[in-house]
Amino acid sequence: MIISANFKTNHSRVSTAFYIRQLNEFLKNENIKDEIIVFPTSIALDSFDGDVLIGAQNAYPTVSGSFTGEIGIEQLSEFGIKTILIGHSERRHILGESQELIAKKYAYFVRNKYKIIYCVGEPLEVREQGGDAVNEYILNQFDGIDTNYTNLIVAYEPVWAIGTGKVATVDEIKTTHSNIKKSIQKPLLYGGSVKVENIADILAINNVDGALIGTASWDIESFKNIIRVAKEID
Ligand code: PEP
Repeated sequence: MIISANFKTNHSRVSTAFYIRQLNEFLKNENIKDEIIVFPTSIALDSFDGDVLIGAQNAYPTVSGSFTGEIGIEQLSEFGIKTILIGHSERRHILGESQELIAKKYAYFVRNKYKIIYCVGEPLEVREQGGDAVNEYILNQFDGIDTNYTNLIVAYEPVWAIGTGKVATVDEIKTTHSNIKKSIQKPLLYGGSVKVENIADILAINNVDGALIGTASWDIESFKNIIRVAKEID
Protein backbone atom coordinates (compact mmCIF):
# COMPACT_ATOMS: atom_id res chain seq x y z
CA MET A 1 0.00 0.00 0.00
CA ILE A 2 1.02 3.59 -0.59
CA ILE A 3 -0.19 5.97 2.11
CA SER A 4 0.42 9.60 1.45
CA ALA A 5 -0.07 12.82 3.44
CA ASN A 6 -0.76 16.15 1.78
CA PHE A 7 -0.15 18.99 4.25
CA LYS A 8 -1.50 21.62 1.80
CA THR A 9 -0.91 25.00 3.57
CA ASN A 10 -0.56 23.54 7.07
CA HIS A 11 2.33 23.04 9.51
CA SER A 12 5.34 25.26 10.04
CA ARG A 13 8.93 24.33 9.31
CA VAL A 14 9.40 23.38 12.98
CA SER A 15 6.19 21.37 13.34
CA THR A 16 6.89 19.56 10.04
CA ALA A 17 10.34 18.50 11.25
CA PHE A 18 8.82 17.28 14.54
CA TYR A 19 6.08 15.39 12.68
CA ILE A 20 8.50 13.67 10.26
CA ARG A 21 10.82 12.67 13.12
CA GLN A 22 7.93 11.10 15.03
CA LEU A 23 6.62 9.40 11.90
CA ASN A 24 10.01 7.90 11.06
CA GLU A 25 10.33 6.50 14.60
CA PHE A 26 6.84 5.05 14.31
CA LEU A 27 7.58 3.32 10.98
CA LYS A 28 10.70 1.78 12.45
CA ASN A 29 9.16 0.73 15.78
CA GLU A 30 6.09 -0.82 14.17
CA ASN A 31 8.02 -2.34 11.26
CA ILE A 32 5.82 -0.64 8.65
CA LYS A 33 6.68 -1.77 5.13
CA ASP A 34 4.06 0.34 3.30
CA GLU A 35 5.36 3.23 1.23
CA ILE A 36 4.72 6.44 3.18
CA ILE A 37 4.98 9.75 1.35
CA VAL A 38 4.56 13.19 2.95
CA PHE A 39 4.09 16.42 1.00
CA PRO A 40 4.97 19.34 3.32
CA THR A 41 4.74 23.00 2.37
CA SER A 42 7.66 24.16 0.24
CA ILE A 43 9.30 26.19 3.04
CA ALA A 44 9.35 23.08 5.25
CA LEU A 45 11.11 20.86 2.70
CA ASP A 46 14.33 19.43 4.07
CA SER A 47 16.42 16.24 4.14
CA PHE A 48 15.23 13.93 6.89
CA ASP A 49 16.74 10.62 8.02
CA GLY A 50 14.38 7.66 7.81
CA ASP A 51 11.99 5.89 5.48
CA VAL A 52 9.35 8.59 5.00
CA LEU A 53 9.57 9.78 1.43
CA ILE A 54 9.32 13.56 1.15
CA GLY A 55 7.69 15.11 -1.90
CA ALA A 56 6.93 18.59 -3.19
CA GLN A 57 3.29 19.70 -3.43
CA ASN A 58 4.22 21.79 -6.44
CA ALA A 59 7.16 23.14 -8.43
CA TYR A 60 7.66 25.08 -11.62
CA PRO A 61 9.11 23.21 -14.62
CA THR A 62 12.53 24.81 -14.37
CA VAL A 63 15.88 24.36 -12.66
CA SER A 64 15.93 28.00 -11.57
CA GLY A 65 15.05 31.38 -13.07
CA SER A 66 12.63 34.29 -12.79
CA PHE A 67 9.34 32.75 -11.69
CA THR A 68 8.40 34.75 -8.62
CA GLY A 69 6.87 32.68 -5.87
CA GLU A 70 7.81 29.36 -7.44
CA ILE A 71 10.48 26.80 -6.70
CA GLY A 72 12.37 24.64 -9.20
CA ILE A 73 14.68 21.69 -9.33
CA GLU A 74 17.60 23.62 -7.82
CA GLN A 75 15.67 24.10 -4.58
CA LEU A 76 14.35 20.50 -4.53
CA SER A 77 17.74 18.96 -5.28
CA GLU A 78 19.28 20.65 -2.25
CA PHE A 79 17.23 18.21 -0.14
CA GLY A 80 17.40 15.24 -2.52
CA ILE A 81 13.68 15.53 -3.31
CA LYS A 82 12.65 13.53 -6.38
CA THR A 83 8.91 13.17 -5.75
CA ILE A 84 6.18 15.59 -6.78
CA LEU A 85 2.41 15.97 -6.75
CA ILE A 86 0.99 17.17 -10.07
CA GLY A 87 -2.60 18.00 -11.03
CA HIS A 88 -4.07 18.29 -7.53
CA SER A 89 -7.61 19.64 -7.75
CA GLU A 90 -6.78 22.68 -5.61
CA ARG A 91 -4.11 23.65 -8.13
CA ARG A 92 -6.47 23.00 -11.02
CA HIS A 93 -9.54 24.72 -9.59
CA ILE A 94 -8.31 27.28 -7.04
CA LEU A 95 -4.93 28.21 -8.52
CA GLY A 96 -6.21 27.95 -12.08
CA GLU A 97 -3.66 25.52 -13.55
CA SER A 98 -4.69 24.50 -17.05
CA GLN A 99 -4.29 20.99 -18.45
CA GLU A 100 -1.68 22.50 -20.77
CA LEU A 101 0.48 23.75 -17.86
CA ILE A 102 -0.07 20.52 -15.94
CA ALA A 103 1.05 18.46 -18.96
CA LYS A 104 4.12 20.72 -19.36
CA LYS A 105 5.05 20.23 -15.69
CA TYR A 106 4.44 16.50 -15.99
CA ALA A 107 6.70 16.15 -19.04
CA TYR A 108 9.41 18.20 -17.37
CA PHE A 109 9.45 16.10 -14.20
CA VAL A 110 9.32 12.89 -16.26
CA ARG A 111 12.43 14.09 -18.09
CA ASN A 112 14.04 14.66 -14.70
CA LYS A 113 13.01 11.17 -13.51
CA TYR A 114 10.80 12.27 -10.61
CA LYS A 115 8.28 9.99 -8.96
CA ILE A 116 4.98 11.64 -9.87
CA ILE A 117 1.70 11.37 -8.03
CA TYR A 118 -0.72 12.56 -10.69
CA CYS A 119 -4.18 13.58 -9.46
CA VAL A 120 -7.44 13.40 -11.37
CA GLY A 121 -11.05 13.77 -10.29
CA GLU A 122 -14.38 15.20 -11.31
CA PRO A 123 -16.34 18.12 -9.84
CA LEU A 124 -19.84 17.54 -8.42
CA GLU A 125 -21.71 18.74 -11.52
CA VAL A 126 -19.94 16.07 -13.58
CA ARG A 127 -20.59 13.32 -11.02
CA GLU A 128 -24.28 14.27 -11.11
CA GLN A 129 -24.34 13.62 -14.87
CA GLY A 130 -23.46 9.95 -14.24
CA GLY A 131 -20.68 7.44 -14.81
CA ASP A 132 -20.05 8.09 -18.52
CA ALA A 133 -19.56 11.82 -17.91
CA VAL A 134 -17.17 11.04 -15.04
CA ASN A 135 -15.12 8.67 -17.22
CA GLU A 136 -14.91 11.16 -20.06
CA TYR A 137 -13.90 14.00 -17.70
CA ILE A 138 -11.18 11.90 -16.09
CA LEU A 139 -9.81 10.66 -19.41
CA ASN A 140 -9.49 14.29 -20.55
CA GLN A 141 -7.35 14.96 -17.49
CA PHE A 142 -4.79 12.58 -18.99
CA ASP A 143 -4.43 14.79 -22.09
CA GLY A 144 -0.71 15.25 -22.78
CA ILE A 145 0.24 12.87 -19.96
CA ASP A 146 2.53 9.91 -20.66
CA THR A 147 0.70 7.25 -18.69
CA ASN A 148 3.36 4.65 -19.47
CA TYR A 149 5.90 6.54 -17.38
CA THR A 150 7.56 4.05 -15.02
CA ASN A 151 7.50 6.21 -11.93
CA LEU A 152 3.84 7.24 -12.11
CA ILE A 153 1.29 6.84 -9.33
CA VAL A 154 -2.24 8.02 -10.09
CA ALA A 155 -4.58 9.44 -7.42
CA TYR A 156 -8.33 9.52 -8.04
CA GLU A 157 -9.74 12.35 -5.95
CA PRO A 158 -13.30 13.47 -6.66
CA VAL A 159 -13.28 17.26 -6.19
CA TRP A 160 -16.54 17.17 -4.20
CA ALA A 161 -14.96 14.81 -1.67
CA ILE A 162 -11.80 16.79 -0.97
CA GLY A 163 -11.82 18.52 2.41
CA THR A 164 -15.62 18.32 2.54
CA GLY A 165 -16.15 15.27 4.76
CA LYS A 166 -18.07 13.64 1.88
CA VAL A 167 -16.55 10.35 0.79
CA ALA A 168 -17.36 8.63 -2.49
CA THR A 169 -19.32 5.42 -1.94
CA VAL A 170 -17.63 2.05 -2.21
CA ASP A 171 -19.46 1.52 -5.51
CA GLU A 172 -18.36 4.89 -6.92
CA ILE A 173 -14.74 4.22 -5.98
CA LYS A 174 -14.85 0.63 -7.27
CA THR A 175 -16.34 1.61 -10.63
CA THR A 176 -14.14 4.64 -11.20
CA HIS A 177 -10.95 2.83 -10.18
CA SER A 178 -11.72 -0.13 -12.41
CA ASN A 179 -12.40 2.22 -15.34
CA ILE A 180 -9.13 4.08 -14.81
CA LYS A 181 -7.20 0.79 -14.52
CA LYS A 182 -8.64 -0.36 -17.86
CA SER A 183 -6.48 2.22 -19.62
CA ILE A 184 -3.76 2.96 -17.05
CA GLN A 185 -2.08 0.07 -15.25
CA LYS A 186 -0.33 2.07 -12.55
CA PRO A 187 -0.71 2.17 -8.75
CA LEU A 188 -3.98 3.99 -8.08
CA LEU A 189 -4.68 5.84 -4.83
CA TYR A 190 -8.03 7.13 -3.62
CA GLY A 191 -8.27 10.55 -1.98
CA GLY A 192 -11.14 12.59 -0.57
CA SER A 193 -12.00 12.83 3.14
CA VAL A 194 -10.18 9.61 3.99
CA LYS A 195 -9.82 9.14 7.76
CA VAL A 196 -9.26 6.37 10.26
CA GLU A 197 -12.99 5.59 10.38
CA ASN A 198 -13.25 4.82 6.64
CA ILE A 199 -9.75 3.79 5.53
CA ALA A 200 -10.31 0.05 6.06
CA ASP A 201 -13.38 0.00 3.79
CA ILE A 202 -11.61 2.07 1.13
CA LEU A 203 -8.38 0.05 1.08
CA ALA A 204 -10.39 -3.17 0.81
CA ILE A 205 -11.85 -2.09 -2.55
CA ASN A 206 -10.46 -3.83 -5.63
CA ASN A 207 -7.98 -1.64 -7.56
CA VAL A 208 -7.33 0.69 -4.63
CA ASP A 209 -3.58 0.61 -4.02
CA GLY A 210 -3.44 3.21 -1.28
CA ALA A 211 -4.69 6.62 -0.23
CA LEU A 212 -3.81 10.29 -0.53
CA ILE A 213 -4.91 12.02 2.65
CA GLY A 214 -5.23 15.72 3.41
CA THR A 215 -7.05 16.82 6.57
CA ALA A 216 -6.75 13.55 8.50
CA SER A 217 -2.99 13.46 7.97
CA TRP A 218 -2.21 16.77 9.63
CA ASP A 219 -2.45 15.30 13.11
CA ILE A 220 0.34 12.76 13.59
CA GLU A 221 -1.71 10.44 15.82
CA SER A 222 -4.52 10.34 13.26
CA PHE A 223 -2.05 9.57 10.44
CA LYS A 224 -0.34 6.87 12.51
CA ASN A 225 -3.71 5.22 13.16
CA ILE A 226 -4.45 5.25 9.44
CA ILE A 227 -1.10 3.59 8.73
CA ARG A 228 -1.82 0.95 11.40
CA VAL A 229 -5.06 0.03 9.60
CA ALA A 230 -3.26 -0.12 6.24
CA LYS A 231 -0.64 -2.45 7.71
CA GLU A 232 -3.35 -4.87 8.87
CA ILE A 233 -4.95 -4.90 5.40
CA ASP A 234 -1.69 -5.71 3.54
C1 PEP B 1 -6.13 15.99 -0.67
O1 PEP B 1 -5.77 17.13 -0.41
O2 PEP B 1 -5.54 15.37 -1.56
C2 PEP B 1 -7.24 15.40 0.07
C3 PEP B 1 -7.66 14.22 -0.30
O3 PEP B 1 -7.76 16.12 1.10
P1 PEP B 1 -8.81 15.62 2.23
O4 PEP B 1 -8.28 14.31 2.75
O5 PEP B 1 -8.82 16.69 3.27
O6 PEP B 1 -10.12 15.45 1.56
